[in-house]
Amino acid sequence: MTDSTKQYAVQKSDAEWKAQLSPAEFHVLRKAGTERPFVGEYTDTKTVGVYKCRACEAELFRSETKFDSHCGWPSFYAPLAEDRVEYIEDSTLGMKRVEVRCANCGSHLGHVFEGEGYGTPTDQRYCINSVSLTLAPA
Ligand SMILES: [Zn+2]
Repeated sequence: MTDSTKQYAVQKSDAEWKAQLSPAEFHVLRKAGTERPFVGEYTDTKTVGVYKCRACEAELFRSETKFDSHCGWPSFYAPLAEDRVEYIEDSTLGMKRVEVRCANCGSHLGHVFEGEGYGTPTDQRYCINSVSLTLAPA
């Protein structure tokens, strides 16, 4: 969990992020937006590699933990390492959800759900926006 005074290893102003990111990337990563389902570039990607944070290039997820959730967004059952992400309780939209952020720069990645019965080793689904990630093929 985090608080608003937290310092990240990568810390930039909105103006700096805007200069670096596309408008869609800025909206999702820095304003906790959500891309439309089924249109993200990594929704059905099977390429082997490591998914990095598109804002700061921290390595976040491995392709080995990606699975077909058919939910419309790239889904992983675990992060590359627990210290790569941080979790924030999110009660917007009247639902209690857990937001997932990059632990290195604080950018929004998506949400994590559990107990959905996907039959993955963790029974968790990290529902991540494609626009938050960059795939580095192995
Ligand atoms: Zn990051």
